[in-house]
Amino acid sequence: MNITHIETIPIRIQKKPNLAIVSSLGSNRNSSTFVIVKIFTDDGIIGLGEVSCDPVWSGEDHITSTHYIKNIFAPLLIGKDPTEIEWLTLKISAAIVGNPFTKSALEMALWDILGKSVGLPIYRLLGGPVRDFVATKFSVSGTEPKKAAEIASWAVSIGFQAMKVKVGLEPETDILRVRAVREAIGEKIKLGVDANGGWSSSTAIQTIQRLCEFDIQFVEQPVSALDVTWLADVRSQVNLPIMADESVFSLQDAMTVVKAKAADVISVYVGKGGGIGSARKIAAVAEAAGLTCTVGSNLEMGIASSAMIHLAMSTPGINPDQIPCDIIGPFYYEESILCQDLPIKGGEARPFERPGLGVELDEDKVNHYRVQ
Ligand SMILES: [Mg+2]
Repeated sequence: MNITHIETIPIRIQKKPNLAIVSSLGSNRNSSTFVIVKIFTDDGIIGLGEVSCDPVWSGEDHITSTHYIKNIFAPLLIGKDPTEIEWLTLKISAAIVGNPFTKSALEMALWDILGKSVGLPIYRLLGGPVRDFVATKFSVSGTEPKKAAEIASWAVSIGFQAMKVKVGLEPETDILRVRAVREAIGEKIKLGVDANGGWSSSTAIQTIQRLCEFDIQFVEQPVSALDVTWLADVRSQVNLPIMADESVFSLQDAMTVVKAKAADVISVYVGKGGGIGSARKIAAVAEAAGLTCTVGSNLEMGIASSAMIHLAMSTPGINPDQIPCDIIGPFYYEESILCQDLPIKGGEARPFERPGLGVELDEDKVNHYRVQ
């Protein structure tokens, strides 16, 4: 089997206005852009991938992503055997610096092809399930406290038993928001906070100490990823587990965080490291160092969310029962582009028991949302 050509389809999807996330990264954009990737083979199998482009996250958007796939990656991949995933991923990785979400779309499409060619879901190709389902948590926007509490109550009403609240905007309001959410959801729901690097070290230390009274399970990226010692400093002076998200894109970042004793938890993505394979390597580094991992999100749609579920189902170094995963992107959009929505509901995500990623595109919807 050989790759014959690669198609890219940029799409833009509206977010549900009441859920759109405000964080210390700014933005309350009411839509997101993606690039849907189709890798065609001479066997007739088509592999699907999704770039969840966000310039704030990785400097990628649908224009850069389309350009790199068309002009750099496609010439590299056409004519090659798509089942040689490790080899092709090395080639993809070395071709250009950065752009991990674009690279990850190609990698997940290769896994999709391999799964379809042998009739197995990706999580089974990765060694099979290490859990029955993936526990998930909701992400509450850094909005005004009353509205945050309403969103949190709604999340509980649809089944979520865990959530995180965006903080890192302004310490006093951050605390009011967390207080309002904790009061709204009661004592039994797991609650974490995600500052997206928005606090200075001293603000982080003071604010985290004040947040302890709300029974907080973890503090995600309290300070900027610019210098890992900032994260380590904060961790050494507070009593809550620290999660590294923006600090860990690559395998080497994970090792840096471990060596610096900067985190208790690492948030792994399919997108940040360039694919499922690199996410599993990061989880192995964490496992070896006695850290745990959860799966984080930049609000992917159905194709990439499916890849995240397959990753979390089959990777021992990821522990959703301890820190539930952010496999929640599909909740945030007005419309899905899949023929059948993923088997995810409040608090639980499951993979399709179908070959590859198990997802099928609704081509009418893809055309409708295509960016012209
Ligand atoms: Mg985060």
